[in-house]
Amino acid sequence: MKKLVLAVAVGLVAGVVALAAAMPGMTTCLTIEHAGLERLPDGTLVDPSLSADERGAVRELREQGAHWVRAFIGGVAAEPIVAFLGEGGGHAPWLRSHPVGSTHFVATRACVVIGPQGRTVGIIAHELMHADLHARAGAWHRHMTVPTWFDEGLGMQLDHRPRYSLAPGAAGSTDGVRALESPSLFFAGNDAELTCHYAYAKAEVGRWLVRIGGPAELAERLQRIRQGEPFESVWRD
Ligand SMILES: [Zn+2]
Repeated sequence: MKKLVLAVAVGLVAGVVALAAAMPGMTTCLTIEHAGLERLPDGTLVDPSLSADERGAVRELREQGAHWVRAFIGGVAAEPIVAFLGEGGGHAPWLRSHPVGSTHFVATRACVVIGPQGRTVGIIAHELMHADLHARAGAWHRHMTVPTWFDEGLGMQLDHRPRYSLAPGAAGSTDGVRALESPSLFFAGNDAELTCHYAYAKAEVGRWLVRIGGPAELAERLQRIRQGEPFESVWRD
């Protein structure tokens, strides 16, 4: 019996390791509540190494980030799990972490993971916007129809890091970014190329928001995606 329990335990661990290698984002979101993080009273998960002051600060940042999303699109549709990691890596080794931040999904579940360099309202609002798009467009339609450049361009509307803002008139047409439909196309290249992808996506989506009548129309457009309308038609009309 003991051997059987041991075999099952070894099998489970091997399964998690294999899953983490194959699908690190999904594994992160699936297991994040069991990854050695502590839960604050508002539900935020934090690295155990965060001081009391840091815990207060990240709770405040999370609230402000949600406020920015609410002000931008007229409400908050998502209820993601939000985690703040620390410098020391005091969490399970399989968690996918980025020094700034990233958002991962498993079906309808969304997990915003903020790294130690991502503790600004703009970066948190950017990641929360990914979760909001996922909630509004629906997991299936987001996955099947929403291109990566649009998802990132929308997040960037709330992200005011100067390196991602094109000088007015500097770039000419930015519509070439619309070829970067998948994560493997968008998140490719060196640091300078990636910066360009984000900046062009930000400009392209920014122009579109002006054309459709501002972010107030955005919720309506995302609802149309949820109802099964192809992205191209939602973008065009
Ligand atoms: Zn993003």
